[in-house]
Amino acid sequence: MPTASVERRVAELRQKIEKANYEYYILDQPSIADEAYDALLRELTELEAKHPELVTPESPTQRVGTAPSARFAAVEHAAPMLSLANAFDETELRAFDQRVRRLLGRDEVGYVCELKIDGLAINLTYVDGKFTQGATRGDGLVGEDVSANLRTIRSIPLTLREPMKGRVDIRGEVYLPKASFEATNKERLERGEPAFANPRNAAAGAVRQLDPKATAKRNLAMWAYSAAGLDVGSQSELLTRLKALGLRVNPSWRNAATLDEVIAFIGEWKDKRHDLEYGTDGVVVKVDKVADQEKLGYVARNPRWAIAFKFPAEQATTTVEDILVYVGRMGTLTPVAALAPVIVGGTTVRRATLHNLDEIRRLDVRKGDRVVIQRAGDVIPEVVRVETDAREQGTAQPEFEMPERCPVCSGVVVHPEGEVAYYCSNPDCPAKSGQRVGHFVSRGGMDVEGVGEALITQLMERGLVKDPADLFFVTKEQLLELDRFAEKSATNIYERIQAARRRPLARVLLALGIRHVGETTADDLARWIALKLPQDADMGTVFDLLRASSVDELQAVEGIGAVVAESIHDYFARPEEQAFLDKLVRAGIQPLMPAQRQVTGGPFAGKTVVFTGNLEHRSRDEAEALVRSLGGKPAGSVSAKTDLLVAGPGAGSKLDKAKSLGVKVVDEETFEGMLR
Ligand code: NAD
Repeated sequence: MPTASVERRVAELRQKIEKANYEYYILDQPSIADEAYDALLRELTELEAKHPELVTPESPTQRVGTAPSARFAAVEHAAPMLSLANAFDETELRAFDQRVRRLLGRDEVGYVCELKIDGLAINLTYVDGKFTQGATRGDGLVGEDVSANLRTIRSIPLTLREPMKGRVDIRGEVYLPKASFEATNKERLERGEPAFANPRNAAAGAVRQLDPKATAKRNLAMWAYSAAGLDVGSQSELLTRLKALGLRVNPSWRNAATLDEVIAFIGEWKDKRHDLEYGTDGVVVKVDKVADQEKLGYVARNPRWAIAFKFPAEQATTTVEDILVYVGRMGTLTPVAALAPVIVGGTTVRRATLHNLDEIRRLDVRKGDRVVIQRAGDVIPEVVRVETDAREQGTAQPEFEMPERCPVCSGVVVHPEGEVAYYCSNPDCPAKSGQRVGHFVSRGGMDVEGVGEALITQLMERGLVKDPADLFFVTKEQLLELDRFAEKSATNIYERIQAARRRPLARVLLALGIRHVGETTADDLARWIALKLPQDADMGTVFDLLRASSVDELQAVEGIGAVVAESIHDYFARPEEQAFLDKLVRAGIQPLMPAQRQVTGGPFAGKTVVFTGNLEHRSRDEAEALVRSLGGKPAGSVSAKTDLLVAGPGAGSKLDKAKSLGVKVVDEETFEGMLR
């Protein structure tokens, strides 16, 4: 019998893991390190092994990923998409090998070693050799339909190279090459958005865009490594077959007759992987023969015939030469460690983020310290710990303090109650306004090519531009007066700025630079606005709607949580933003409203839905908007055409009429379940 404290701990672990899963798989923004997550999952697995009566089908040990987001239509997988058990060292690999040999009852087991690609698992469905649908893994049983986005990836063939009859499901990893990952993060940081923690979250962000054009820009690629519906006898045969069908198969795979050969393969790639143009976080070892795989079968969320060996994070020791403070677009002060250059995982590292003052205090890092650094997710340098023993007695530098004045403009630095961050309070701080204009014209924003840092600085120095909206009022003559501008270049820039008046609404919203509003949130917000306003609404009408929206209403928008809703609401209520917003309206910005998504599957597609009585979870407006976004038609009254009546407490005549017409009636809880 488990004690009450074990039960409590199990519940607590599940809650923490569910939260981490949501942040990692749905928001693509994990808030804890992978090592910490793995430790939680391991503890839960061990507790459940000791107390099997506590295992429930919903436990995160029994399921992969997390429920798919309602932003995409749901796709049920033909066969579940599973995860892999992990091995973190040689002992764990040897235990896997022994288990396999014991279960198969013989010593000779052939393996296939493949690189573990740091991307996200995708299922591609081909019917009669034609690509028909592509989906994310989701919770392993139901994924998200991202077909339109996947079609933009050139390494995914739309037609297989051999004639085929019937359905084949091909699985593999969609990934972002290292260079694109770094470029994406650079752009995000310039826009004041948090960087992606690893290439996998970045690839997931790119695949799960609502606008396929945004995915197309990201340079994604795919490696295929498994399939359902192809008749093959082994994994090696499968990889050869996939290649023949025109799919991209990672060429580094190799057969291994023994575990020693597996270990040699891992040893070889431990360093060589840094020369690859994409991220790998381990090696996947698979029993080669399909007959053996079938004999070994599955346990909960993992096949028993495969294991993922994870490479340990590369670390190095170096010295903190200084602690610098950068000022971002929102005026946030970010401390950064300037390091004596050191090579970590094949790259020279000179800087490591220290995030904020709390993190500096936790690490107790000071100028002159010896520190161990690693690249998180093998990419972003971070300080792991200080080697305090190396501090010489009596020579330790004093604790780091945030400056009282902004390092860029000498404005007063403020530290709002309850927040971790410190900010420059000067609204005209050049770091803020310059970066704000830079953000406004950036590729993900209003996309004005040719307006770079040098031009923005000149325009600001001459007082022609104070905020981004001023750009639209700069004349050709004014441009001609600037350094290095001739008739042709001035005309070009002028025309590009003018052309930027017509941009998709999501980009305009992103360009505003509202804290926490990145590409995905801007997309979600734009879609919600498009449900409320006519297609030709102008910017003034959009701003009026946002000004009039309460935090609760914003929070009810799919994909928008409490913090983001609060931030959007604050932004539109802030008196100092009003002049800027009005100027944008005067500049004649004409937003292009997003087209409504064609929804073919799901419980509401093509259905007429009526609401009656009181709803507790959300307002009637919002429930109707959700139905519309899922391809349904909300209606005001019940008729023979009604497919579904959602009846809350207090329902009256509509309920009676629905019953008499034989219309399906559900309560609010059932409706919420259908949304999920
Ligand atoms: P996993 O990444 O450990 O392994 C399974 C996945 O490997 C497959 O789904 C597939 O996508 C991938 N893969 C890559 N190359 C492959 C190949 N050649 N053959 C087969 N599969 C291949 O398992 P997971 O369940 O996808 O995710 C768990 C990982 O995510 C862990 O590393 C965990 O730390 C991390 N995670 C972190 C957080 C957090 O909050 N930090 C939250 C959830 C998950």
